Amino acid sequence: MKRPKHAMEVFQLLEKSNCRECGEKTCLAFAGAVYQGRRTLGDCPHLDRQMVAAFAAVADDGAGSVADDFLEKMRQQAARLDFHEVAERIGGRSDGDRLTVKILGKDFSVDRKGKFFSELHMLPWVIAPFLTYVLTCRGRRLRGEWVSLRELRGGAERYPLFNRRVEMAMQQIADRYTDLFADLVDLFQGRQIESHFDSDISVVLPVFPLAPLMICYWRAEEGMDSDLLLFFDRSADDNIGIDSAYTLAAGLTQMFEKLAQRHGVSFDQVSAGSSR
Ligand code: SF4
Repeated sequence: MKRPKHAMEVFQLLEKSNCRECGEKTCLAFAGAVYQGRRTLGDCPHLDRQMVAAFAAVADDGAGSVADDFLEKMRQQAARLDFHEVAERIGGRSDGDRLTVKILGKDFSVDRKGKFFSELHMLPWVIAPFLTYVLTCRGRRLRGEWVSLRELRGGAERYPLFNRRVEMAMQQIADRYTDLFADLVDLFQGRQIESHFDSDISVVLPVFPLAPLMICYWRAEEGMDSDLLLFFDRSADDNIGIDSAYTLAAGLTQMFEKLAQRHGVSFDQVSAGSSR
């Protein structure tokens, strides 16, 4: 894993409680230690394994191997599966040698050697949720009932951090990147739908075939700040689980941030084929 570009990149991932369980006096001190290479992200017991693995993949920027043991075991397991059976269960497709799932409308595949192929080079953080989806998705039909992360199993205790780190971060992006929703529809097969929960904009993203995500945005009005909330289909409990739901939404936020930074340069850079 490459070193993070700066300590704040690590700090943003932490819950900032300064609980000292990692042995450092503050979360900022821990972030500095990770940046300097004295500690690893996995030393904070409050970060889930998927988040640690996703960060490792992002830091590698898609160029390195998936070094994390956790991911490596999942990758080996996935490569041994009956791809035809899995494809039918999770809404993918397979020719027997390669299992392909549409993620955000683009093909993402794994082959018999555990090698990944992706049409999107900005999605290294998707590897852990992809493998989890392949290995554990129970293939439940979508229920059409949108729920907050806090309503998913295990979501109540995770929600305050999710709200701060994901929903509020995404809201700030939407506030300044006014074409965000139009671009999501264009780039990632998003679908603007009839407004939900009285929001101004509701967009559904097909993150996985059986795990869509709905983004609802309320514009600022006189005396009221804007707001943005994320919703999962009720079947997410069985199809992706709380860790993947969290990691996917956090990864999307990072991707939107990059899109916002690139806005005005060229979105063509986002959709380039790559393999690892
Ligand atoms: S264990 Fe995690 S949350 Fe607690 S102080 Fe260390 S880095 Fe911060």
